[in-house]
Amino acid sequence: MYVATKPETGLKSVLIALTKQIKLVRPEALAVYPYSNSLFIDDETKAMIDAGSGGKAYQEVPTDRIDLLLLTHHHFDHTNGWVFFKNAKIMAGQEDGAAFQDEKQFRERHGYSRWAELMGGSQVEEWERLWQMPPDVPTQPGFQNIQLDGVFKDGDVFQLGETCVQAIHAPGHSRGHYAFFFPQEKILFSSDLDVSPRGPWYGYGDCNLDDLIDSIHKLMDLQPEILVSSHRRVIDTGIKEAFQAYLNIALQREARILEFLREPHTIDEIAAQNIISEWERKIKTTEFFAKMMIVQHLKRLKSQGKIEATGDKRYVKIAGV
Ligand SMILES: [Zn+2]
Repeated sequence: MYVATKPETGLKSVLIALTKQIKLVRPEALAVYPYSNSLFIDDETKAMIDAGSGGKAYQEVPTDRIDLLLLTHHHFDHTNGWVFFKNAKIMAGQEDGAAFQDEKQFRERHGYSRWAELMGGSQVEEWERLWQMPPDVPTQPGFQNIQLDGVFKDGDVFQLGETCVQAIHAPGHSRGHYAFFFPQEKILFSSDLDVSPRGPWYGYGDCNLDDLIDSIHKLMDLQPEILVSSHRRVIDTGIKEAFQAYLNIALQREARILEFLREPHTIDEIAAQNIISEWERKIKTTEFFAKMMIVQHLKRLKSQGKIEATGDKRYVKIAGV
């Protein structure tokens, strides 16, 4: 998921050919929630990676002839157009599989069950439901019961004709978040590990910051020459540096939290420091997401023995660390 505050400007819906077979599908609107980039592999087997580019963009794609729809993870901005691909076999990562078909799992993974604890009160403001979806987004946020035809796992290879693509499990942003790597072309579709200058996002219930950090390293180690992500432009220079800068944003947030915990503080007090990002205090839901991300940092700092809970809902840096 990707929250728009300062959107990229002036983008038009286009099919951008990265190679003869591999084409980026950009949304006509900005590639931010509820939209995302997708990747069309126009080969013997026609495949689409993700389904969030909107109906206008998919007018440029033979949607009825797509054989295989690969979903990088269960977030709405990546799945909402699944109904366009009527003849496609739909697959997602095995670790996210249940979130597509089991409403309880879906809700747990969004993390709203922690709303009362973090925000007070039981009135959950489900941000996704506040949105009026644009006309070319064919489904509504919330549980959709997307029937998968199969799941893939880390390392699975799809031979689509000349093109070969490998599923790379890159958890942390969601438990079953996947990237896709084209080893011959050295093209990486990194989905929501999108090297955004605003840093990674880990505000849902099934996010895990340790996993996310490992995943960023895993993607860097693939040494892609072209990086395509869900919400940004194609990058073909400085990819390693972009990933490192992206990771550093999360690590800098953590360093600031640790510094603030020289004195004991509650999660609310940490959240009031606006350490996570500029969007965190915008509305109640973004504040909730920011607190969920702070919880991830506290969990990590605690497991590293750098902080401890004081017993009165405060956390404090352990002396000498
Ligand atoms: Zn996402």
